[in-house]
Amino acid sequence: MAEKLVVLDPGHGGKDPGASGPTKKREKDFVLTMALKVEDILKNVPNITVSLTRRTDVYLELSDRAKVANRMKADFFVSIHANSFLSTSHGSETFYKKDNSKSAAQVLNKAMVGASGLYDRGVKYGNFAVIRETTMPSVLLEVGFISNPEEEKLLFDTAFQDRVALAIAKSICDYMGVKFVVQPAPTPGKPVPVSYPIMEVTVHAEPAQKFEGINVSGTTWLPSRPIGEYLGGKIGYKKGQVTINGTAVETMNIGGTGYVTARALAENVGARPFWDKENPTKVDIYPKEAV
Ligand SMILES: [Zn+2]
Repeated sequence: MAEKLVVLDPGHGGKDPGASGPTKKREKDFVLTMALKVEDILKNVPNITVSLTRRTDVYLELSDRAKVANRMKADFFVSIHANSFLSTSHGSETFYKKDNSKSAAQVLNKAMVGASGLYDRGVKYGNFAVIRETTMPSVLLEVGFISNPEEEKLLFDTAFQDRVALAIAKSICDYMGVKFVVQPAPTPGKPVPVSYPIMEVTVHAEPAQKFEGINVSGTTWLPSRPIGEYLGGKIGYKKGQVTINGTAVETMNIGGTGYVTARALAENVGARPFWDKENPTKVDIYPKEAV
């Protein structure tokens, strides 16, 4: 089965804090935390790959967020926000723009409201750039009102965040037709699965985009689907192996995601990887068009 690719888009970031609450907590921090939590859950679900428009506190243009998802040929796009209006405004709601996104909005909204326990403001049509300019089904979640003192407090409560993140992750799987099975947790006494050092990967396409890879005994391995497609390659799957533009390459399955080496990936799409000599956790990849 081919991997489905979902792009999570934590709203705002960097110079754009988004809305802020009565105690000055910021929307950009809440949405990044949520996106990373949803990613953490989906990382361990087979047959789904997750990528983020931003993984740190950086500013991104709205049109670049859409470009990133379009370039990756994502199957689904989920933008995460917190609402702001009056201190008495309350509840969760979900926006869609395109006809092909309404059913997704309904699935995610139902799950989000179920977990948030907040008033259900329902599914609404909204002409927002990120859900208009993305070419795949796209929704924008407003988890709760940061302008409301009680909801602001909830939005920054860890238990609330975990509950809502789980519901969002599960509903993404439901909508995408992927079975929600988390890879088994390690049992006590058994060796803990190895966790590999993270590699910070920058793909210098338009726009430049950061990804996470891993370092296994000195070799850089990358999630094949988001990075391969971002580099203009065609990623497929055949008998447990990833194919890049039709060529099967050595594949490692991590948390249900097909990883390939940076060298194999670059070679098969005509890109060039450069490892940073000063900082061995960094790799820059230049696509064919930029070389
Ligand atoms: Zn927002």
